[in-house]
Amino acid sequence: MATVLLPALLRAADEYEPIRLAMVEDQLGARGVRNAAVLRAMRTVPRHLFVPPASRSKAYADHPLYIGQGQTISQPYIVAFMSEMLDPRPHHRVLEIGTGSGYQAAVLALLAKEVYTIEIVPDIARRSGELLKQLGCANVFPREGDGYQGWPEKAPFDRIILTAAPPEVPKALTDQLKPGGILVAPVGVQRQELVVIEKRLDGTLKKRSSIPVRFVPMVPATR
Ligand code: SAH
Repeated sequence: MATVLLPALLRAADEYEPIRLAMVEDQLGARGVRNAAVLRAMRTVPRHLFVPPASRSKAYADHPLYIGQGQTISQPYIVAFMSEMLDPRPHHRVLEIGTGSGYQAAVLALLAKEVYTIEIVPDIARRSGELLKQLGCANVFPREGDGYQGWPEKAPFDRIILTAAPPEVPKALTDQLKPGGILVAPVGVQRQELVVIEKRLDGTLKKRSSIPVRFVPMVPATR
């Protein structure tokens, strides 16, 4: 597992640990999340630091949270389920579209070698970038930009995860996936479902639908 050093100060001050461990057992383990590395990451990342101070007491509840500026932090189970579907390995380079609070990126930082994450709203990108840095997530590379374009300079990626929903999976993103790679995305407008795409070694795509989900829409760039 990749190492991320959470500053001792944060660890010592983490009065939420018992609630977090209960969340992992009651919400994730009980619903069938089995990937040991994913469970470990979900036990480690201080989710309460990724929500506004006024919402901290609800950070570990079994639902998504609205955290301002049209943004939500996904339900813990969905973060764990998508991480399990993505199946990141310690040597992988992962691309995330929709940094939001930075929570999913921090979870992935414990599962993969490098996490490249793109957020379209400048203010959100700046804040989550600062928090990830403060938490010592040195293997997360955040930037402001339009996820529809992906990050061609850093491509190809072993894994790609979208945490905002496009009407269909953008071709630029499947093009930036390595052969043998996996992409996980919520897809759809009115009704969304989680889609898992595998790129076969010959470059063809194998697509399957998973559970119904509800994510904020992936907005097109305006400039
Ligand atoms: N992964 C986040 C949750 C994402 S919320 C977390 O763990 O908290 C979805 C985010 O996607 C929002 O912050 C939204 O601004 C962003 N987003 C929407 N459209 C986008 C686009 N085209 N490119 C990049 N980010 C986008």
